[in-house]
Amino acid sequence: MERGSLLYEGKAKKVFATPNPDQVIQYFKDDATAFNAQKRGTIFEKGIVNNKISTRLFELLNEAGIPTHFVEELSDREMLAKHVSIVLLEVVVRNRATGSLVKRLGLEDGMVLDPPLLEFFYKKDELNDPLVTEDHIRLLKLADESCLAQMKTLAFKINDVLTPFFKSRGMLLVDFKLEFGFYKDQLILADEISPDTCRLWDIKSGEILDKDRFRKDLGRLEETYQEVLKRVSA
Ligand code: UDP
Repeated sequence: MERGSLLYEGKAKKVFATPNPDQVIQYFKDDATAFNAQKRGTIFEKGIVNNKISTRLFELLNEAGIPTHFVEELSDREMLAKHVSIVLLEVVVRNRATGSLVKRLGLEDGMVLDPPLLEFFYKKDELNDPLVTEDHIRLLKLADESCLAQMKTLAFKINDVLTPFFKSRGMLLVDFKLEFGFYKDQLILADEISPDTCRLWDIKSGEILDKDRFRKDLGRLEETYQEVLKRVSA
């Protein structure tokens, strides 16, 4: 499929128009950023790996009846997706406490969260993507009541599908970030699900298998992303 004009360029992806105004091409880059882009680097072939992992996970979610923007994998780095209008919120689901939650609340790293915890962050780089409450979301008119309720229901359903999927492949799904968008009045899952947007720990060894290796300079980045792809594809 022919790529049209560049509609948007983010930290890890580019979005291109297609001849069909209802569809876009998501192009996955090798660029990696952390701490609101204060730390930058590249991970060899990360774009290829994340496109393939996202494709596998979106297929799994579509089979489970969860609506996603995924249409088809076009090439190593390109995914055809429905053209959505993005909700300016990041929806984070957590099964264990780590990362910003531990810093904010002083919890013990790795603490089990049962039931899982859901948080919203306002997608606004200038403000460093702050945590927002549902009242903040109403105040800022980022989502209406129905959209809020649907995002929560879908996020927990996605956790219920992904957690056993990763477990069967020897990985603990610690937490993950989702983005939703509207496609012709329907709220659907958009963006990507990959080791850039999830935390995954090896069940046996506890080894970190995600972007925290980049954030914390733990090394073996390429091998780790390839390992997750291998396990997800098995
Ligand atoms: N996350 C993400 N993009 C962001 C912030 C977080 O994909 O801009 C993911 C992150 O990889 C993790 C989850 O959301 O899986 C929760 O991240 P957290 O709030 O702990 O943030 P961090 O400690 O990474 O700043």
